[in-house]
Amino acid sequence: AELPGDHSESNVPRQVSGALYSWVAPTPTGTEPTTIAASADVARLVGLDPEEARRPEFALIFSGNAPLPQTRSYSQCYGGHQFGHWAGQLGDGRAICLGQAVNAQGERWELQLKGAGRTPYSRMADGRAVLRSSIREYIASEAMHAMGVPTTRALSLVATGDQVIRDMFYNGNAQLEPGAVVCRVSRSFVRFGTFQLPVTRGGDDMGLVSLLADYVIRHHYPHLVEGEASKYAAFLKEVAQRTGHLVAEWHRVGFVHGVLNTDNMSILGETIDYGPYGFLERFDPDFTPNTTDLPGRRYCFRDQPEIGQWNVLQLARALVVADLVTQEEASEALQAYAATLTEGYESGVAAKLGLKAYDREVAAGLLRLMYDDSADYTNTFRSLGSISATAGSDAGGVDEASGLPAVLAAVLGPLEEERYTAWRDWVALYRGRLQAQGLPDEERAAMQDAANPAIIPRNHVMVNIISEAEVGNYEPLHSYMAALLRPYSGEGLDPAWLEPAPKQCRMGVELL
Ligand code: AMP
Ligand code: MG
Ligand code: MG
Repeated sequence: AELPGDHSESNVPRQVSGALYSWVAPTPTGTEPTTIAASADVARLVGLDPEEARRPEFALIFSGNAPLPQTRSYSQCYGGHQFGHWAGQLGDGRAICLGQAVNAQGERWELQLKGAGRTPYSRMADGRAVLRSSIREYIASEAMHAMGVPTTRALSLVATGDQVIRDMFYNGNAQLEPGAVVCRVSRSFVRFGTFQLPVTRGGDDMGLVSLLADYVIRHHYPHLVEGEASKYAAFLKEVAQRTGHLVAEWHRVGFVHGVLNTDNMSILGETIDYGPYGFLERFDPDFTPNTTDLPGRRYCFRDQPEIGQWNVLQLARALVVADLVTQEEASEALQAYAATLTEGYESGVAAKLGLKAYDREVAAGLLRLMYDDSADYTNTFRSLGSISATAGSDAGGVDEASGLPAVLAAVLGPLEEERYTAWRDWVALYRGRLQAQGLPDEERAAMQDAANPAIIPRNHVMVNIISEAEVGNYEPLHSYMAALLRPYSGEGLDPAWLEPAPKQCRMGVELL
């Protein structure tokens, strides 16, 4: 209510100008909803007793069938560049914010239902979400948080009991699929595109830009108000730095977002909007999980740093046009993005290698080998902790056939002798660096294991979990989720969760 809103309360799709959001209520579903999963951690974050998730009222509220007491729900208005082209108004087409919860520490958290029905921003679509994509979002949000990557959170996953119609892109037939609602949680869901839209419209809407910037700074960047420089320039610079850090973290864990449009860029530098995302399996920098992004591969792993920069540039442009920052301040912010990204990338790779400083020769050499032999990104890095600085002292011993550290050899599987030679050369180079550094093996491995997740969400594993959930068996989801919440421990893992996708899936076929 601190910002101008659209008060008509109708969910008929339309252009909404002069407002940053529309008051709109969820559309009830036809059937009794069931809570499939809820995060105890997120419940506590928003001031809820985790036990509340067992009550039928919880499923009703978090599927949009009953109001959250003392709140009024709304959807946000924003625009965005989609695949490099300005797309005009987009907005929360299937997201409805129930309101904000203030926890015991005084933090405000927004609770947002995804899939709770049409909003003024639904355009031609239904405002619903299928169980399949909701499970994927629930898993990724909490797994990314557990890995230490900034992200929106997920409080709950509720099956609506209703069926949703989806056109399956691979056969063109309309199919019925079970529907679900995820409750996403973040301190803010404002996106780069929230600033872009009023700037693009101009006229009276231009005034919304400074109102929005003041609001975001007041609530989320309060430390910038006191500075000597313009608070808007300081704000843009910090958003750029947070985005640079985020993209570096994606590279550390092998995450590929898949739809890095400017409407999917959080003003807090969090990962937001888990659609056709994927994690690197067999290392391939050209990997994109998004089949609608082929053959251009705009959003492939390799190009995320550049796309992040392009997106920060679009935000900077909007603030320049709105006269909140100067050209010079905008280019300073872009430099800050690049500096933070490089620093984050290099320190992330150094930690993965167990080295105190980034070493280009060691890092590039390893990535080259991983690419040539289609080695699994996660499992290969995780195996490095077993390598000793001293030949013959590797944890797990030496593999006879290859002469490689046994843990690494097991990850690589059978290779041609000349490939073994290439890997042995790299291991020798690596041991040399470890010796020069002089840290005890165990100490180094502990630091390294904290940067290399032992388990990441894998698409082919999620496919099985989703099929089970579709027939009402949620146990596989629960046990997978429990493991993903301790990604660095490496204990109690089902080997099937760690298998890389079969080779023919290298380019990612299974989607959304
Ligand atoms: P995305 O590519 O997921 O960021 O979505 C782009 C736009 O489409 C956003 O404005 C979404 O809110 C909207 N959208 C996606 N799916 C639906 C849906 N099922 N119903 C209504 N709007 C949707
Ligand atoms: Mg989106
Ligand atoms: Mg989406």
